[in-house]
Amino acid sequence: MAVIKRVWAREILDSRSTPTVEAAVMLDNGVVSVFSVPSGASTGTHEALELRDHDETRYRGKGVLKAVNNINQIIGPNLIMANLDPTHQEEIDNKMKQMDGTDNKSRLGANSILAVSGAVCKAAAIAQGKTLYQWIYENATQKGLKPMMHAPTPLFNMINGGLHGAGNLDFQEFFVIPASSKNFADGLRLGSEIYMMIGQNLARRGAIHSVGDEGGYAPNLFTNADALEILVEAIRQTNYQIGRDVFLGLDVAANSFYEDGAYKIRDKSAPMNEASLIAYYKELNNLYHMAVLEDPLHEDAWDGWNQLTTEMGQQITIVGDDLIVTSMKRLEKAIQTKACNAILIKPNQIGTISETIDVIKHSREANWKIIVSHRSGETNDTFIADFAVGVGADYVKFGAPARGERVSKYNRLSSIEIELAYKSQQQTPPQPPPQN
Ligand code: PEP
Ligand code: MG
Repeated sequence: MAVIKRVWAREILDSRSTPTVEAAVMLDNGVVSVFSVPSGASTGTHEALELRDHDETRYRGKGVLKAVNNINQIIGPNLIMANLDPTHQEEIDNKMKQMDGTDNKSRLGANSILAVSGAVCKAAAIAQGKTLYQWIYENATQKGLKPMMHAPTPLFNMINGGLHGAGNLDFQEFFVIPASSKNFADGLRLGSEIYMMIGQNLARRGAIHSVGDEGGYAPNLFTNADALEILVEAIRQTNYQIGRDVFLGLDVAANSFYEDGAYKIRDKSAPMNEASLIAYYKELNNLYHMAVLEDPLHEDAWDGWNQLTTEMGQQITIVGDDLIVTSMKRLEKAIQTKACNAILIKPNQIGTISETIDVIKHSREANWKIIVSHRSGETNDTFIADFAVGVGADYVKFGAPARGERVSKYNRLSSIEIELAYKSQQQTPPQPPPQN
């Protein structure tokens, strides 16, 4: 097998015009791969560290030259010296963790480590002549996960509020979710048709219909419940039926409206305590029958999470994002305390591909649902789409079915779905799209 011959990195821009890290890996057989790292806005405080320059004279302090230099001067030279085979993903990831030597990757930065980890994974797939999702599947299988490869059901983020919106909504993401019985192509079409209908309705009312960070509309509305009404109205105008073809969901990202021990949202005149907020979720659920509820409480409200999951977890997929931050330690606590029944997976919250797969495996052992997610600051890299297929995720969350950095990932899933269908009939796809 080939070995890693060159590793280099540069600063590029993400979809919010914020710098991020792009790394490239070259093997001694000439194979080159490139991977770029996304970045969150509503980050959990327990995430691995995203290293930024904090030099206010460049990009308002958001530059990533330190992380780039860590790849060019520390990670790269060390990996090259060790003559590493790129198919040894875990060995390479462990080596980078050792180089960093901290619990939260704060010396070298999770952004520099993940950039190389992802580029190595891609290089290994290309060198073996495998699709990226197939190679990730093999990695996952080696680790004892038994993925079922398919294009997962998308959670379309149609309305953007919280830290992603330009409007006044407190809840961060309002999902439209195709029934999981639909194939991906039909689900994508459903998402697009409802998205167009929402835009048309907002324009007709003279409401703001510009979009937020993840491509969903960012209107000014009186309440968060009004945004759910807008989804319902648009769905009713299509040929789809709520509860049969399509479901609703929320990522409320409760950290962002939790202040001084209370939750403040515009639906209620006074700040709410945990019990009143849970009661409000039940009220909303009686009206809208939600399929998914992400980060309903703040990231350290362990008792409240347990209460909510005990009371609502039979009907709703309760997802831990800021609560767990793709960390094995926090996942173990969440499983032990029965805090939720699903996990949001974001590789840059933990910093290596191997650790991300370990977390998925452990979540599966607890019978949890797996949702593989983008970040609000994205690039056009489609790695995450292949990753979701390779690990057998139930859902993906890549934003609205709009804006290049979001649709590139949905479109990649469409092509994988076609390829898998041909492969299941042992046929060659008519025209394989470019891979990796
Ligand atoms: C999220 O909270 O699920 C999300 C994708 O947002 P961000 O990337 O800003 O954390
Ligand atoms: Mg979230």
